[in-house]
Amino acid sequence: MKTLIEPFRIKSIEHIKMTTRDEREKFLKEANYNVFKIRSENVILDFLTDSGTSAMSSDQWAAIMKGDESYACAKSWYNFEKAVKKITNFKNIIPTHQGRAAERLLFSVVLKEGDIVPNNNHFDTTRANVEFTGAEALDLVIEEGKKPELDYPFKGNIDIKKLENLLEKESGKIPLCMITITNNAGGGQPVSLQNIRETKQLLGKYNIPLFLDACRFAENAYFIKKRENGYESKSVLEIVNEMFSYADGCTMSAKKDAFANIGGFIALNDEEVTKKTRNLLILTEGFPTYGGMTGRDLEAIAVGLEEIIQEDYLNYRLRTAEYLGEILLENGISIVRPAGGHALYIDANAFYPHIPYYEFPGQALCCELYLEGGIRGCEIGTFMFGKKNEDGKDIAAAMELVRLAFPRRVYTQTHFDYAAEVIIDVYNKREGVKGLKITYEPEYLRHFTSDLERL
Ligand SMILES: *Cc1c(COP(=O)(O)O)cnc(C)c1O
Repeated sequence: MKTLIEPFRIKSIEHIKMTTRDEREKFLKEANYNVFKIRSENVILDFLTDSGTSAMSSDQWAAIMKGDESYACAKSWYNFEKAVKKITNFKNIIPTHQGRAAERLLFSVVLKEGDIVPNNNHFDTTRANVEFTGAEALDLVIEEGKKPELDYPFKGNIDIKKLENLLEKESGKIPLCMITITNNAGGGQPVSLQNIRETKQLLGKYNIPLFLDACRFAENAYFIKKRENGYESKSVLEIVNEMFSYADGCTMSAKKDAFANIGGFIALNDEEVTKKTRNLLILTEGFPTYGGMTGRDLEAIAVGLEEIIQEDYLNYRLRTAEYLGEILLENGISIVRPAGGHALYIDANAFYPHIPYYEFPGQALCCELYLEGGIRGCEIGTFMFGKKNEDGKDIAAAMELVRLAFPRRVYTQTHFDYAAEVIIDVYNKREGVKGLKITYEPEYLRHFTSDLERL
C-alpha cells in the first residue's frame, strides 16, 4: 500500500480548543511576541518542541503503575539501568531529571575556564552549560551542513579536517569532544557512522574522549539504515550499539527518544569521572539510583527505550517531517533540506528577505504562524543565538530558521495537512511583514523569557 499509516491506535484523547485570529492577536500581544509565553490551551498545533511532549503508550502507563518509589536501589532503577545499558553498553549510568542536568553535572566535573569543547553543533542548553564553566563551545559542522537548500545525506557530520587542525594546535585544552545525534541546532540532520568512527580514531591519537549528545539516537540510527552503505539490512539496535561503541560516554534527554515526559541520564565508562559526577549528583539532583526522577519516570523511560527502536515507528516518524517538507517545497517555501528527523526547519531568511537578522525574521515568522493558524514553532536564529559584539549589537547567527518540532505519536496526517495550509497562507501574505525588537532580555538563553515589540 502507498499510504503509510500512524502505527498506533488512539485510546485517550486531548481536546484542542479552536481560537479566532482576533483572539490570537490578543494572546500574542499579552505574550510580548514571545511564543514561549503563550498559554498552551490557546495553541492549536503545538510544534514548539518535541521535548517531553510525546504521547506515552498503554505499556508505558502500565509500567508507571509499577513504579517503585523506594528511596534507594528501587526495582524501577534496575529496569531503567538495564534498558539504558542495552542501548548504550556503557558501564556506569547516572540518572538525571533531564538532559541539561546531565550536561551541567558532566561539564562541572570535566571542564574549566579556558577549555574548548568541539561539537558538530552545540544545542542551546549544551552551549550555555559549556560556557557557564568558562569554557568555549566550538561548532565544527561540515560546510554542507550550513547550506539550508543543499540536499546531502549526513549534514550533521562534524568536519574532520577542522577538528584535526584544532587538535594539532589546542589538544591540551580539550577535555572532551561531543557529537550531537541528530544535529538539532543544525536542522535535525543525521551523523553517519563513518563520521563517528573517524572522529573517534582521530581523538584516540590525543587520548581525548568522545561523548555523544544522544537525545535522538534512534532517529539518527534509522537515517543511517536508510542512507549509509552497508547498513540497509542491520537492525536499528545493531546500528545504535555500533554508534555508542565509538563513544566513551553520552548525555541524554529522555524527553526526546525515550517517549518520556521528563528524565535523562549520563552514561559513561570512566570510573574517576563517574565518581565525581555521582557525588555532585547527590548534592544537587538526588541519590544515584533515581537522580531527580521518580520510580515511575524510570519505568516509563525503560519501556520507552524499547519502543523507540521499533522500525515501523521510526519509518512513520521520519516520513512525517519529510511529507510536510515535500508540500512546502512544492509551494516554493525554502526549508532545510533534507527534512530533519524530529522537525522541519523553515528558512526564515528566504521567507522574509526584507527583514534583517537584527530584526529577527525567524521570530517574525513564528508570530505570523501563530496569528494565522494557531501554530506554535520556535525560532532558531539570531534571537536564540544571542551573541553580541563589543558594542553590544547582535551578531548574526549562521542561519535564520523556524523549527517546527513534532511531538512523538501526538498528531495525525490531517494535522500536518492543516499545518501545510497555514504555512502556505502565511507565505502568500509575506510582503510587508515587519520584524521585531527586544524590550527585555535575560543574560542566558534569552529566547525563553525575552519580551519583544513589533517594529
Ligand atoms: C533537548 C536537548 C538537550 C537538553 O535536554 P533537556 O531535557 O531539554 O534539558 C540537549 N541536547 C540536545 C541535542 C537536545 O535536543
